[in-house]
Amino acid sequence: MNRHRVPFDGRFSIRDFSCDPPSGAPSKKELESDLDDLVDELDKLQQRLFADERFAVLTVFQAMDAAGKDSTIRKVFSGVNPAGFRVHAFGRPSELELRHDFLQRVVTRLPERGKIGIFNRSHYEEALVVRVHPQFLAAQHLPDVDLKRIWDERFESIRTFEQHLARNGTAVVKFWLNVSRKEQKKRFIRRIEEQEKNWKFRLGDLDDRGRWDDFQAAYESMLRATSRPWAPWYAIPADDKAYMRTAVARILVETLKELDPQFPKLDADHRRELTEGLMRLERE
Ligand code: AMP
Ligand code: MG
Repeated sequence: MNRHRVPFDGRFSIRDFSCDPPSGAPSKKELESDLDDLVDELDKLQQRLFADERFAVLTVFQAMDAAGKDSTIRKVFSGVNPAGFRVHAFGRPSELELRHDFLQRVVTRLPERGKIGIFNRSHYEEALVVRVHPQFLAAQHLPDVDLKRIWDERFESIRTFEQHLARNGTAVVKFWLNVSRKEQKKRFIRRIEEQEKNWKFRLGDLDDRGRWDDFQAAYESMLRATSRPWAPWYAIPADDKAYMRTAVARILVETLKELDPQFPKLDADHRRELTEGLMRLERE
């Protein structure tokens, strides 16, 4: 079992999961060379996934700002055939999206068989940012809102939804990039000091930082309620980027290996075509 996997029994405690790599983790150089190998392996597995046509993979990334969602996605998928995966970033829902149930906009972006879908933020925002800032909930045109029950109800909807996906051939794998408050501050300052990163910083980012403890509590209850065998969460230490990227790539490779996609077996007709094709080419 992977050490970062969030237990399925609902007993997850955020305090048991560190923002730092475990002791004895490989050096940066070793991690980077491991990542290169994993990226290659991921590409090969994706080719099989595509040829097999039975499975899809849905990868979800959630984290506080500056944890490294974008750069992790960029690095981990850097070697995969671009035709084999699709990234979707979920921001604030549009007016039209708010007129639907909260899963609708996610459903329209699910990967088809053979593909890897990557969600940069996801339906989980509905129990994170929306929970911490109830004004978002007020904008959702919901008929009855019982604040004592709504989050558990959302978790139930999400568990059922993801189990449905799993039963129908979509492997769901979810990453929480666990960055510390201290490291986030360093990265925000870098965004302000380095001109090329300026565009990433808005003053509003400090509002969510100001609600750090509320977010941590929301993450804890969300991870407890929604890490299940058919859709596991992994809590990845995010204060060290090299470690984080390699850990994510390794888990994705493990997930795909477990699906074990196969190249289709050729039937007799197809085999005859190969023999005939070779003959004709040699005769040219
Ligand atoms: P970014 O990922 O930095 O581009 O920011 C996207 C913003 O959209 C974040 O502040 C998210 O919290 C916010 N967001 C994403 N999903 C939702 C949602 N369902 N309701 C409200 N805000 C959301
Ligand atoms: Mg942002």
